Amino acid sequence: MACDKANPFENMKKQVDVVGKKLGLEPGVTEVMKNPKRELTVNFPVRMDDGSVRIFTGYRVQHNESRGPFKGGIRYHQQVDIDEVRALAAWMTWKTAVVDVPYGGAKGGIIANPKTMSVGEIERMTRRYATEISIIIGPEKDIPAPDVNTGGREMAWIMDTISMAKGFAVPGVVTGKPREIGGSLGRPEATSRGLVFAVREAAKKTGLDLKGATVAIQGYGNVGSFAHKLIERDFGSKVIAVTDSKGGIINENGLKYDEVIAHKKKTGSVVGFPGTKPVTNEEVLELEVDVLLPCALENVLTGENAGRVKAKMSGEGANGPNTLEADEILHKNGVLVLPDILANAGGVTVSYFEWVQNLYNYAWTEDEVNARLDQKITKAFHEVWDMAEKHKVNMREAAYMLAVDRVAKATQIRGFYP
Ligand code: GLU
Repeated sequence: MACDKANPFENMKKQVDVVGKKLGLEPGVTEVMKNPKRELTVNFPVRMDDGSVRIFTGYRVQHNESRGPFKGGIRYHQQVDIDEVRALAAWMTWKTAVVDVPYGGAKGGIIANPKTMSVGEIERMTRRYATEISIIIGPEKDIPAPDVNTGGREMAWIMDTISMAKGFAVPGVVTGKPREIGGSLGRPEATSRGLVFAVREAAKKTGLDLKGATVAIQGYGNVGSFAHKLIERDFGSKVIAVTDSKGGIINENGLKYDEVIAHKKKTGSVVGFPGTKPVTNEEVLELEVDVLLPCALENVLTGENAGRVKAKMSGEGANGPNTLEADEILHKNGVLVLPDILANAGGVTVSYFEWVQNLYNYAWTEDEVNARLDQKITKAFHEVWDMAEKHKVNMREAAYMLAVDRVAKATQIRGFYP
């Protein structure tokens, strides 16, 4: 995947500086907004299947808790580094503020490629990492969730590891759990559902008919694949190209979700799906489509390639897919960017619903979850849109203005201790 050298943490801080000035924040408060409150690095051993012991490095960064407990996912990826996790933690703070759920922001990660590990190795790594970070997580403190290369299976292991140490079940320690152990209905698709709701609202504003509209998706993990399903099923849009970490496929007549996902489940990749031509992870971003959905990793749209984007809008299922330069170019070229901290906030929104259901031991129906998610994303979309119009800024800056203002206000109302 095309990742340039841009440092996402430095980019995030630059963005907050710009917004801090626009909001007239006291410089010291802007500094508080930029910097993580707490960072934990853990180096821990895992017994591998061949009998050897391997040391893994993991992180948990807690950015801000002014508005509530820390919240954010855990990713397993060979490219994880501390600055990436810092940026991702801060983005969680802004995301939870944009959709106005009572959380702060955090993120965790382990430098590992789980695609080269056995299930047993992944489980032992997950349980040991959970134990190492157990000193700072908990239902009232910091609640992890899935992110890149993690899902319900890993959340179940973390919930079990923490519960074993406590001596009783602690479902509220993580979200994104399987339904059988307190997971919420609608959580697996929530990020994609929120993304599609944001695209729907943007389409209404810009006069784009989503029925028959063409879509290209970069990334076919949880977010990208469910986005395909929902935009096809609920709006009749035509997804013409999708990619994953191994490559991609294109068919101008459209790709059917049911068929592509069946192929991916069988072969481990979308690549080689019958009746398609290959497309790379770089090319997929530059296709002549109405809607582009980057749903993979950071920094895939840069100063180098953003000028070649032909989509009318880009809905960010991924966190941080654009560099600052890419943002400027896309805005100048009239490509409407639906920023990550709004467009992919559906995941953490339903995580919040899951946590609430866990805390009062009462499960909602799927319709209830989806309707409440729709309300949250639609409201946030219009707040960001109105902010963008009022201040004549792009959607990302508007989302940051809304979020940083909310977090700064909470910080100032609480005051500075001691
Ligand atoms: N990892 C997801 C995100 O980046 C979800 C986080 C959560 O549910 O806490 O938004």
